Amino acid sequence: MPYFNAMSIEASLEAVEAEAHREGFRHCPRCGYELPDNLVICWKCGAVLK
Ligand SMILES: [Zn+2]
Repeated sequence: MPYFNAMSIEASLEAVEAEAHREGFRHCPRCGYELPDNLVICWKCGAVLK
């Protein structure tokens, strides 16, 4: 079923895209660790997030 397969690939690409631009997450400016947007201090390195 070629049509079905094409749809699956498109869905996978969208999932990758969503993973790369996740809402509600940011990267620590010091260590680059991915953290929830509402965090004040990086739980990995202790950097203050502004
Ligand atoms: Zn950090």
